[in-house]
Amino acid sequence: MEIILGKYGELALKGLNRNQFENSMIRTIRKRIERCGAFKVHVAQSTVYIEPQDINADIDMAYDEIRRVFGLSAIVRAAVCEKDLRSICETAENYLGTALDEVSTFKVDSKRADKRFPMNSMEISREVGAYLIERHPNLKADMKNPDITVICEVRDDAAYVHADQVPGAGGIPAGNAGKAACMLSGGIDSPVAAWMMARRGCELVCVHFQSPPYTGERALYKVEKLAWRVSRWAGRVCLFEVPFTDCQIRIRDTAPEDYFTVLMRRSMMRITQIIANKEGCGAIVTGESLGQVASQTMNAIRCTDIVAQMPVFRPLIGNDKVEISEYARKIDTFDVSIEPYEDCCTIFTPKHPRTQPVIEAIEEAENGIPGLLELEAEAAENSVLKVIHFSDEDYV
Ligand code: ATP
Ligand code: MG
Repeated sequence: MEIILGKYGELALKGLNRNQFENSMIRTIRKRIERCGAFKVHVAQSTVYIEPQDINADIDMAYDEIRRVFGLSAIVRAAVCEKDLRSICETAENYLGTALDEVSTFKVDSKRADKRFPMNSMEISREVGAYLIERHPNLKADMKNPDITVICEVRDDAAYVHADQVPGAGGIPAGNAGKAACMLSGGIDSPVAAWMMARRGCELVCVHFQSPPYTGERALYKVEKLAWRVSRWAGRVCLFEVPFTDCQIRIRDTAPEDYFTVLMRRSMMRITQIIANKEGCGAIVTGESLGQVASQTMNAIRCTDIVAQMPVFRPLIGNDKVEISEYARKIDTFDVSIEPYEDCCTIFTPKHPRTQPVIEAIEEAENGIPGLLELEAEAAENSVLKVIHFSDEDYV
């Protein structure tokens, strides 16, 4: 039989809260693999065991889900066998023999958690290693830098044989860090920023600004699809779609052109703040990275930051675009992000936006815009909520 093992990450360090973290992670795992058939999920010795209960259980699909569960630092598929040397050797050969044919060096690592087992870990490794070399004469043992490590774990209930574990999603289990209001555009950066906060345990309330008729249905669908890709890690994402056209037009028509970008960003921030308060969020998140564009200089960020009444997290502030794109590929949002649709930020943009706005001048210009706060309240009020689940079929 084959099972999935998940190893705790930071969870193992969490003293008194550990139970709460552990329970929420188990709940998440159960929910994620509900569609994969009958599995038993339980914890022993800081390891989560995910065991198929019948032949209809789809372990490939379950593994694909488990690798997106936050809180697991490492995961691996393993073969289960009797706790005797012969069966451990045979299982290692049956389970990993093909993989061993494809490499030139290996080592066997054993762990004996069940101290009643008659051999110690060194002895188990030596015996299993000898058994495998006999069947793969070209294979050489390499203790320092092997191509593959065959790991044999003798635990209380059974023995497990597997190859090297791979990194899990890391972070903290979903829903242990409060709610965050993430400003989600259709770009590359903001889905990564949202994902990073979800990995730190945040529940995501995403806020997207659209400007019909300047931005279209396809652009909106693209953002929903991005939210869905993120929900495959986060579990669930609430997406507020904000009609932003009236605010933008009011700013364009009544404020100096070169202030447009900063004023628009302040307006977005205030609307996000209204939604964040209503939804009980403790922070706002953006995908900004210092100096990337005119609105992301230190001064421009200061001008928008100052209108927020809660912490604004910018997890990508120190990252290069190349690094952010690597993340986007890893979390599977990149291909959607590069679909070419207009974002509301790119309409009405001045030819020469101010890169070094001065707060006093910005505030004065803003005070000269009639009824902007009312329009912002209306935009928040008229926003449409879509709740997006990892299991939604609409965005596949
Ligand atoms: P991204 O790849 O996230 O779009 P960007 O480099 O295009 O980033 P900007 O357009 O300046 O940067 O936007 C900076 C941040 O403002 C975004 O990361 C996002 O958090 C927020 N933002 C931009 N446009 C929107 C939008 N239409 N709706 C919601 N948030 C937005
Ligand atoms: Mg953008």
